[in-house]
Amino acid sequence: MIHRCFVKASKLIVFYIINYNTKLKFKRVNKLVFINSEGKFNDNTYLIDSLFFRLEGHLALYVIENDGVRMMIDAGEALMARKVVKKLKDLGIYPIHKILLTHSHFDHVHGVGKLKKLMKDTEIEVLASEKAVANLRNPSKKNSDFGYIVDPIENVIPLKNGDIINLNGLKLEILNFFGHTQDSIAVLDRKNKNIFVGDAIMDKFDNETFIPEFVPPEFNELDYLKTLDNLKSLEKDLNSISLAHFGVWKGDDFHKIVNDVKDFHFDTKKSIVKWYKENPSVSYITSKYHEKFIPDSKIFTKDNIFGLELIIKWFITGLKIMGELSKSKKS
Ligand SMILES: [Zn+2]
Repeated sequence: MIHRCFVKASKLIVFYIINYNTKLKFKRVNKLVFINSEGKFNDNTYLIDSLFFRLEGHLALYVIENDGVRMMIDAGEALMARKVVKKLKDLGIYPIHKILLTHSHFDHVHGVGKLKKLMKDTEIEVLASEKAVANLRNPSKKNSDFGYIVDPIENVIPLKNGDIINLNGLKLEILNFFGHTQDSIAVLDRKNKNIFVGDAIMDKFDNETFIPEFVPPEFNELDYLKTLDNLKSLEKDLNSISLAHFGVWKGDDFHKIVNDVKDFHFDTKKSIVKWYKENPSVSYITSKYHEKFIPDSKIFTKDNIFGLELIIKWFITGLKIMGELSKSKKS
């Protein structure tokens, strides 16, 4: 059956179906500093492609394992949960003991109930920011924001800034990484010099395709900038960043993200505001964005721009909420 969300497709959702006909072929670049293939990528961590909307390379789940205890970061969508469980088995990391949700957006939390059912012989703890607990228990507001139905998630263990999750001796530190949402957290793994950030920093699908994070209705710029500063202050202790969308960026690529992301945020924001004032049509702004920021993208090409238009429309809404477009009479 076609997923309900395809029918009720919100702007966000169509973003994920744009590649229906263009199977992504990522290249490993810069001596494997960008890791997008599944499997183990450091002493304790595995990347799993959640096949969001059946698409490869769109939403990464991570599993951290130490001495037989495993924690998954994010859950993907219920429709793919069975496939995710098969991948866990294939990788020898079944079952999972904890699921940590980086924030309460539907694409990260939808699969929790199904995953728990599929691993019913194991008591799975679900953890998230203390600010996410109410959103997870009562998802109706977020469901209407995104046009996607997520079931309530109960009994979530609340996490606050500075909390430590101890996986049999592997200590993982929780950091508030607010901005993208006001319930976003990062998981810092000092031992492996890696940080999991969900959507809190940016989306970078490959070296040619990147998208900022000012997503309505919850984006908070001041908090987002604080988060970027926080990440920058951790740079010296880290060697990789694990993005939900998508993959692990190491070495030079990691440092590039940390050092460029603030400029990228302001540059994209300023450009979209400027183009909006020239001509508020979404197709005009989209073609400008494509030309300036991602001209060589294999995901959004000139012939396959529809998905990008939906994202741009979404950013325009975000900028209106931020008050950035309020001086313009056009809307
Ligand atoms: Zn998100």
